[in-house]
Amino acid sequence: MAQDASNETARAPSVDELTPPDRTLMGPGPSDVNPRVLRAMSTPLVGHLDPSFIEIMDEVQELLRYTFRTDNRWTIPVSGTGSAAMEAAIGNVVEPGDTMLVPTNGYFGGRMASMARRAGGEVVEVDAPWGEPLEPAAVSDALAEHDPDVFGFVHAETSTGVLQPDVSELTAAAHDHDALVIADTVTSLGGVELRVDEWDIDVAYSGPQKCLSCPPGASPLTLSDEAMDKVLSREEDPRSWYLDLSLLEGYWGDERSYHHTAPITNVYAIREALRLVAEEGIEQRWDRHERMAGALKAGVEAMGLEMNAPDEYWLPSLNAVRVPDGVDDGAVCDRLIEEYDLEIASGLGDLEGEIFRIGCMGHSARPANVIYVVTALGDVLESMGADVDPGAGVTATRRALGE
Ligand SMILES: *Cc1c(COP(=O)(O)O)cnc(C)c1O
Repeated sequence: MAQDASNETARAPSVDELTPPDRTLMGPGPSDVNPRVLRAMSTPLVGHLDPSFIEIMDEVQELLRYTFRTDNRWTIPVSGTGSAAMEAAIGNVVEPGDTMLVPTNGYFGGRMASMARRAGGEVVEVDAPWGEPLEPAAVSDALAEHDPDVFGFVHAETSTGVLQPDVSELTAAAHDHDALVIADTVTSLGGVELRVDEWDIDVAYSGPQKCLSCPPGASPLTLSDEAMDKVLSREEDPRSWYLDLSLLEGYWGDERSYHHTAPITNVYAIREALRLVAEEGIEQRWDRHERMAGALKAGVEAMGLEMNAPDEYWLPSLNAVRVPDGVDDGAVCDRLIEEYDLEIASGLGDLEGEIFRIGCMGHSARPANVIYVVTALGDVLESMGADVDPGAGVTATRRALGE
């Protein structure tokens, strides 16, 4: 058989066909990775129980607490992407028969609902249109009506470019009804103001490839003692063994015993990404995102485009820009990739065809990227016949960056 030249499977596949291109990432994530993080990822492996790795684990946990603005002991990077941290949060906190209140104002609220159902929970909803935040009064009414055990909300909705304001009001209302609060902070952690302890958020999860500018693979999660008490006193084990926090506690808690092999390289990566946060200072980092995205916003507005969200709930890390009349959004994104090696995204769900989603996250939130995206977008839109003034856009962006 081995001598049969016609045996296709015996032939080695060609390995030199595609070198991944060098894109500029200004979409909804991943964002451009800082070269220091890429270099950290080429560090030789040690064992996941090596004494040096145990120290690195401690450092990552401490840096995560700093970035989340929390003292929570239960603060870890979950192996997997943001959705793994999300499922760890929901799958452990929601017990069979629990009721979870989730929002309807974007794509990720819908994912919360799916996960809560799989955890055996009953899902109830608080309504708001896509592109708008939750109203505190609507949340209060829903809490009074359904008396849920858990309330989930999305702090930074990547599908709509909406930042949820009034977080403390929402958590206070939930706590008045004895509901624990789970916050999706995937697109806010390290990019926009987030204060887990001060805002009384019980559980927050995030992802590394958005405002932390780290490749996906190890995803931040933090739980208060009260939330962890609920997890540790469950009657029924969570449905996932891999994401069972009572077991993961053995590895990330005091014991440091084997549960699963940590993604060593991704832990190195998130450590370096978090060191960059600490070096910059978390508040300075929030300010930088606001300044860089502010320059981007000034540029697209001066060009003649419109932001989808008003200033009160504009999300600097994800800018939703209205698609101008007569332009096909998908064709614009394709041309930006083909001609500029630049990634932005189009709208989803209820906002499909209506908005561009332009990220301004982490290492991508810098002057060169912002000028590039405004220039490229103006050029492509003008050549497709849209009524825009690309020169005015670039001038406004430069002026905003110069201030
Ligand atoms: C990206 C994202 C997620 C999911 O993260 P993955 O890393 O894609 O699994 C969840 N919530 C929000 C708000 C996101 O932007």
